[in-house]
Amino acid sequence: MAWDIFQVENDVTYFDHNATAPLHPAARRAWLAAAEEFIGNPSSPHRVGNRADAALEAARARLAGMLSCQPHEVVWTSGATEANNQVLHHFANTLPSDAPICVSAVEHPSVTESAAHYFGDRVRLIPVDRAGLVDLNWLDEELVKRRPGLVAVMAANNVTGVIQPWEQLAQLCRRAEVPYFCDAVQWLGKESSSGVGNCDYVTGCAHKVGGPRGIGFLKCPPNGPFKPLMFGGPQEENRRAGTENVAGALALVATLEARESLLSECEARRQLRDRFIQRLTAELPDIEIIGASARRLWNTVAAMMPEVDCRQRWVVKLDKLGAVVSTGSACSSGKEEPSPVLLAMGYAPGHAGRVLRFSSGWETTETDWEALLVTIKQAARELQPSVAA
Ligand code: PLP
Repeated sequence: MAWDIFQVENDVTYFDHNATAPLHPAARRAWLAAAEEFIGNPSSPHRVGNRADAALEAARARLAGMLSCQPHEVVWTSGATEANNQVLHHFANTLPSDAPICVSAVEHPSVTESAAHYFGDRVRLIPVDRAGLVDLNWLDEELVKRRPGLVAVMAANNVTGVIQPWEQLAQLCRRAEVPYFCDAVQWLGKESSSGVGNCDYVTGCAHKVGGPRGIGFLKCPPNGPFKPLMFGGPQEENRRAGTENVAGALALVATLEARESLLSECEARRQLRDRFIQRLTAELPDIEIIGASARRLWNTVAAMMPEVDCRQRWVVKLDKLGAVVSTGSACSSGKEEPSPVLLAMGYAPGHAGRVLRFSSGWETTETDWEALLVTIKQAARELQPSVAA
């Protein structure tokens, strides 16, 4: 890892960027400068408040520029979980009470669980194939037959990195005059944000690519009704109550801009990942790469590992040996369940339970990938005896 800021963790090979990423220096600089400079509340009617408000609006305009939408279509939130809940809440309060919605079977829990909360059995899960791609024919038919009130399909999956055809989905939904909601959390800052704002609803956050935690946004249509999730203030044109996080918004924009300037290097990053996959599968032939036939984010590898008694053992063993990775699945009431994403892709619970996620960042070097490989090999040597035991 390249920056001094990582030295506090320099004994760690960090491969959990899809959970959260280390702070980018540009985000840190922007956050500190804004926190010191814009001390006012953007809603206050005095000059100090006005300065904070102007800074917030400038950040909004920069983000809108990146997404190719209008500034007033952007609503700042505390993160993507809030923004995702906001979308489902809005539709629950504006659609007819019997309207179905279509949600991909591989969405983040902040979409699937809020959809289940608000819509119950009116949620129609869009099936995915073994590679994790949504079934466009199924959706096409559904749009004609049932006319859902909303379609929700993310841009890129947090567990597998599989990229959905979101541009095509946006067109399909527009033709059917059904609103399309795209959770772009894992896409933004890794691939180009240009055109993402053409989706009717888009959500994102800063901390997956080096921004601070606790700041995100919702892009929504400029006009029409909007049912806010929270009450108690007229901020964000009555769409999100609560004092805005000016420093967070400026840091989010600084991070995304810094990442956009690196997009020409995506291919080189992809090659690092692919070399790792080649060597990993050569060294441990029992490994299966999940979603291998689909287009995936350059930073993510989901791999079904050789069997040990419990996959947590891989994570714990790798951690002890210095590599930080993830199972990529949710932990409910202290008990880890197989990821619904993998189950939806057709993996049996026993197999889904063996999947590990390695997610790199822009600063991850060839040496880091090499260190991860060496550590996995070491962990495999140490864990194998317990398989036979
Ligand atoms: N959507 C996706 C695809 C994610 O990966 C995550 C975080 O893991 C979220 C939403 C929630 O983001 P936040 O941490 O900003 O609430």
